[in-house]
Amino acid sequence: MAALGGRAAAALLRRAAAAILGAGPRRHRHKEKWATTAPRIPSTRLALHHFDTSYSLHLGALWPSVRAGLLCEQKYGALLNNFAAADHVPQQLELLNATDFICEAHQKAQQWQRGAEARGCQEGSGEGRTVMQAEMMAQAEVSPPLCASISSKIKCYTFPRGDITRFRPARPDSLGLLDYYLMDAASLLPVLALNVQPGDFVLDLCAAPGGKTLALLQTGFCGYLAANDISISRTKRLHDILHSYVPKEVRDIVSVTSCDGRDWDQVKGGTFHKVLVDVPCTTDRHSAMEEHNNIFHKRRTKERQMLPMLQLELLMAGILAAKPGAELVYSTCSLSPLQNECVVERALDVAEAQFNIRIHVEDLSHFRTLFQDTFSFFTGCRLGELVLPHLTANFGPMYFCKLRRM
Ligand code: SAM
Repeated sequence: MAALGGRAAAALLRRAAAAILGAGPRRHRHKEKWATTAPRIPSTRLALHHFDTSYSLHLGALWPSVRAGLLCEQKYGALLNNFAAADHVPQQLELLNATDFICEAHQKAQQWQRGAEARGCQEGSGEGRTVMQAEMMAQAEVSPPLCASISSKIKCYTFPRGDITRFRPARPDSLGLLDYYLMDAASLLPVLALNVQPGDFVLDLCAAPGGKTLALLQTGFCGYLAANDISISRTKRLHDILHSYVPKEVRDIVSVTSCDGRDWDQVKGGTFHKVLVDVPCTTDRHSAMEEHNNIFHKRRTKERQMLPMLQLELLMAGILAAKPGAELVYSTCSLSPLQNECVVERALDVAEAQFNIRIHVEDLSHFRTLFQDTFSFFTGCRLGELVLPHLTANFGPMYFCKLRRM
């Protein structure tokens, strides 16, 4: 070594060290090392960091409890399949202490209406009413078809607040149709808000995998149902659900397509009585919990940033697909006001300015009163309603806003 010059000796030492450490020559090692060992922050952590920053501002003191809900096991509801021979299932579920939350809300609405009518006859003045009674009367008076707007044909069982029992998997009847579909019960609220009427032509613009499509069919009212989703693999899942739950004669009124929903108005503009626009979003619960297919992955930053634009375009396509007088529901499973109210507000402006279409935002505040035993609602939305995850009622997030094309 003494015979070697200083630089040659250093090179030799580096190579010897590399040999001991098992690494290749430095010029190869350099790139490889950075490429394979650069620490990757998990997408779930990025999502939570993002949520902590933005939702703590939006939800204030509620955020810690909503965060805990997002990070704990989600609660499910069992949507009964009216097409299956499963008359025994409600009784089975009731024995387990589950109840049909839609039926309960329907009964509550009927009681209010009867109560309001009776009080209307008896009392001229409002003296002696409790705040709750006054609120109930106001609800019943401002929303006359309250109970009619809660389709009692859709039946969904949930366990009471604080009860985290799980439902058994669905079972087939003698013809192979499954008895119920397990889903986030809050996902039914946009469908209920749409209030499908007999013979309605319904468009479900982003339909896959198909939980809401199935619920729309459970009303028994769709005259025609167009179920579209851009993703071919996800529309396959939609087909599977239809085959597992819906008999052939009912499937015949459903047309499944895989188009870009943004182009829908060019295909069938102004033809639908009811339009559901259940857009792709940051799927907050999934993003906080699952690495797979997480939109907070660094690679998907651009896609995530473009979501509000895609959502706006889809909502605009939905508005153009609706007949004048038709009703639409816009929904997401995100808490983000940028993906919720802001998209709706922007769509109202664009519809008026570019298409001369006036849109009315329908009041759904009675949903809060009707479903407060089952879900936790946020009371601070500028437009629409938002179900917040909560440890005792861990459904949602689910944002929904009802619009009417004038
Ligand atoms: N409504 C569905 C249900 O209840 O099962 C869930 C819909 S999911 C929230 C949003 C869907 O939008 C995804 O299935 C996605 O493939 C679809 N999507 C995304 N971009 C779309 C586009 N440009 N046109 C139509 N569908 C799109």
